[in-house]
Amino acid sequence: MFNGLEVIQKADLKKYCTFKIGGRGTIIFPKNVVELKKLIRECQKLNKNYFILGNGSNLLFPDYDCDLIFVSLKYFNKIKEEKRGKIFVEAGVNLFSLNAYLKKHSLGGLEWSLGIPASVGGAVFMNAGAFKHSISEFIDEVKILKDGKICYLNKKNLNFSYRKSNIDGIILGVTMHFSQKNSIEIQKEQFDFLERRKATQPYDKFSAGSIFKREANIIPAKIIDSLGLKGTKIGDAEISTKHAGFIVNNGNAKAIDVLALIDYIELKAGRKFDLEIIIIK
Ligand SMILES: Cc1cc2nc3c(=O)[nH]c(=O)nc-3n(C[C@H](O)[C@H](O)[C@H](O)COP(=O)(O)OP(=O)(O)OC[C@H]3O[C@@H](n4cnc5c(N)ncnc54)[C@H](O)[C@@H]3O)c2cc1C
Repeated sequence: MFNGLEVIQKADLKKYCTFKIGGRGTIIFPKNVVELKKLIRECQKLNKNYFILGNGSNLLFPDYDCDLIFVSLKYFNKIKEEKRGKIFVEAGVNLFSLNAYLKKHSLGGLEWSLGIPASVGGAVFMNAGAFKHSISEFIDEVKILKDGKICYLNKKNLNFSYRKSNIDGIILGVTMHFSQKNSIEIQKEQFDFLERRKATQPYDKFSAGSIFKREANIIPAKIIDSLGLKGTKIGDAEISTKHAGFIVNNGNAKAIDVLALIDYIELKAGRKFDLEIIIIK
């Protein structure tokens, strides 16, 4: 099965997500589009479902061993300048590396994103955002693989909203635009945004970011805080004492602890919230 491809069978899924929770599963690391197409064809032949992994920073894996085939695009890690201010970034590049590239090349705009532990593919798919910005502001075109073919989605075909995109396919890379900016200024702003994040979020703990999405006028974290639920624990899962919108793993939390904590929050709040994290079954 999957001959010639880099495969880890029974991989410890904890190592592939920022929550550090999960059982075991098969992960495949295609080195290029040819290998990616091959592995998708094999999944189809074997009747296996696959799931594209970014940096696993918005995921809750199950505690049991998973039957899905996880596909990591970590080898899709190049950044290419197309013309001044316009770059093509492959999906597996993480936002830390992209921010380092932008600083080095005096390209400004994305400073607010430093500290989001995402891959570009995951950030684009989820339309990651913070501090009143979102990544979609900088996107010109998205290169995807869909039904075995490479397609390009431009602004006319793309639709982004709060933590959501309409992208249906595997994101291979993105053409993005930025503006000329002094490197020192970029560095200062990146640092300031990262410091603001560290001051308000449990940045030093394992988590998957905000558990729930904000809705029009409803900020789940504020409701959770007002109910006095910060610090509530089930097993090693805890509602962060620093930011009520985060559940943190204090070491050995299980997915079932996180799910029970979510149920508990909703019970106390007397309502359901939209989940921002993706629960893998
Ligand atoms: C400490 C912390 C802080 C965070 N702060 C923020 C924040 O400020 N703002 C914010 O928006 N989010 C934040 N997050 C959440 C998370 O980083 C984002 O949702 C991010 O966009 C997920 O990217 P990822 O690469 O980790 O994707 P993953 O979590 O691996 O995957 C998320 C989804 O994207 C899909 N996906 C990934 N790559 C591809 C691809 N190449 N093609 C198609 N689909 C793909 C996956 O299949 C999955 O459905 C935070 C998380 C943590 C742990």
